[in-house]
Amino acid sequence: MRYAETGYNLEIDLTRGNIERVATDPKETELYLGGLGTNAKIIWDRVPPEVDPFSPDNLLIFASGLLCGTPATGCNRTIVSTISPQTRLMAFSMMGGFWAPELKYAGYDKVILRGKSPDLVYLWIKDDKVEIRDAAHLKGKGAVETATLICQELKEPKAQVAAIGLAGENRVYYASIEQGRSSASRGGIGAVMGDKGVKAIAVRGTRDLNIARPAEFMALCNEVLDYIKFRNDNPIPGVMPILAGLGSPQEMKVHDEKWHTENFMWGNSRVRRKDFWNEEIATAWMETLDSMRTRLISCYNCPMTCGATISPPGKPTYMMKCFSKLTYTMAAFSDLEFGLGIAQSATEYGVDAFSTPQVMAFALELYENGILTDDDFPGMPADNEGRFYWLLDRIVRREGIGDVLANGTYWAAKEIGKGAEAYAHNTIKKHEQLPLKLSMLNPIYFLMYATGEKMNITQIEGQFPQAPFLKMEQREEFVKDWIQVPDEKFKQYFLDWELRGEKSIPYYPTPEMCCDIVDWQERMHYIDDALGMCAGLSSFPLKPPYHIHNYPKFIATGAGIDMDEDKLTQAAKRYRTLVRANNIRRGMRRKDDKPPKNHWKKRFPELEKELLDTYYQFKGWNDQGIPTKESLDELGLDYVSTDFEKRGIYSDDGDTPSKETSAEKKKEV
Ligand code: SF4
Repeated sequence: MRYAETGYNLEIDLTRGNIERVATDPKETELYLGGLGTNAKIIWDRVPPEVDPFSPDNLLIFASGLLCGTPATGCNRTIVSTISPQTRLMAFSMMGGFWAPELKYAGYDKVILRGKSPDLVYLWIKDDKVEIRDAAHLKGKGAVETATLICQELKEPKAQVAAIGLAGENRVYYASIEQGRSSASRGGIGAVMGDKGVKAIAVRGTRDLNIARPAEFMALCNEVLDYIKFRNDNPIPGVMPILAGLGSPQEMKVHDEKWHTENFMWGNSRVRRKDFWNEEIATAWMETLDSMRTRLISCYNCPMTCGATISPPGKPTYMMKCFSKLTYTMAAFSDLEFGLGIAQSATEYGVDAFSTPQVMAFALELYENGILTDDDFPGMPADNEGRFYWLLDRIVRREGIGDVLANGTYWAAKEIGKGAEAYAHNTIKKHEQLPLKLSMLNPIYFLMYATGEKMNITQIEGQFPQAPFLKMEQREEFVKDWIQVPDEKFKQYFLDWELRGEKSIPYYPTPEMCCDIVDWQERMHYIDDALGMCAGLSSFPLKPPYHIHNYPKFIATGAGIDMDEDKLTQAAKRYRTLVRANNIRRGMRRKDDKPPKNHWKKRFPELEKELLDTYYQFKGWNDQGIPTKESLDELGLDYVSTDFEKRGIYSDDGDTPSKETSAEKKKEV
């Protein structure tokens, strides 16, 4: 019997209209866990580097994490993996909400899409019944609107629907997949869904899941709930509000946005407004949020209420969470009322709330600097807010300049030329990043930015405080109940960390310590992404309820897999390496492992080289960032080293993942 997982995937060939229920190998679960782990293996096995993002042979995998659907609090993530049209690397974007548990209850761990449907369709999965249905009537509809229409049409109000909007249909490189109370946004996975001709996947399940040792598992779940209550009652002192608690509810509950608005960059991620926040703005923004926020809401099986339903005047209600509250406001130098209003349109269109505002601000910067002219913006309104709405419409429709901007700042700048590339400045691996600019290089963040392949810093960081505490008493207090550390040495790293002097950034933590810290943070995120756990209860916050010491027990009692900390660490390392191997096979090398160019004002090239060298060695990668044969064989990934050898990858000093511009790409699609 299989526990926690169902043991079946749905394989859907959209070209042929073929649907298969395929039993999976339990040995793969032991090696790669589930969710992202088994997705990485499937991509390795079935999507060789010759396959383009918009090829019928690219797969789009919707996976539930291993523990999704069990009573483990906050375990609700759907991990969507494919080859990204924007980075041309493996994308894996996570969404919360309710979809993954529903898929498990229908009897499947993953839905794997291949081929392309000749006509727009949606999929309807209800337990054993799986149908490919016509979606012609949904063409052009909003993502949230589509979900409502499908539920009505099926007379299934409880169905969970993951849908794309116009942006996905038109293959915008930063199109998202929206789902009830969440979205999977990074990497342009919505564009791949649109390319496959799939408007939505609706799921309803009525089955039970088996738990290996239910009484022990429930006891663990109750411990976690008790700890969440304790942490909610005892926020961590001395850190900013968003780091003091669990989840990310602060954004929708708290009105004080001084930290974000004065530290994050406005416009095209360049302008810092140090004295922006004042009483007048605080009052106005509080009134806006109070008047539009109708309810605080949670994802499946979670008490945290991170999200909120937002009802802007004259517009339908939608759901918002986290930093997207501010991204449009800050890109347009506007106010919260504008930001919450345009986010409704953006959610319906289905676009990434990190990339989209930056791309629009980038276009306006090019206009202000004469690189784009009035001819590129026929009929664009004169006011800034009107311009943002105008640009959003053009982008999702791929009309005029919108067709160029729809490929993101990196590709758009290449296509526009005339010096535009200097304005596409905040990208990693061709993807827009968090609009944050800082002064002094932070060695921990340097490694995370450079080598993280998740394309989202908030999904790489966590566990270790972002900055040292001023006084030793505060540090001693902090480490007292720091039970989450995998090793006591992390406490000493933190105790010795000073704001100034010899033991301060950029030279402290030392490169060796940075390797330990980054590896710990990354390991926790990767474990979450295989189990389907929300990072907000595990890898992102300080002192979370889930950690390396209790996770093995959850896996053992929930999924019935013999597990301890070492085995779990090894499994995470295995599929993390496999994600990298997929990207290495696609041309990613050391030259791609770098942070956004102007993220820090003060850079230290020698130190940065040392950091990268030390980290590569620590990870078992060679000086190009390629996992060595020895390290691959040790992880049981000898099939990867064999492939690397066959392809001559070890003797290749690297090429960019793709030399094509988006314009060249378009000729093909
Ligand atoms: S902590 Fe927040 S984002 Fe995470 S599962 Fe709970 S409600 Fe969702």
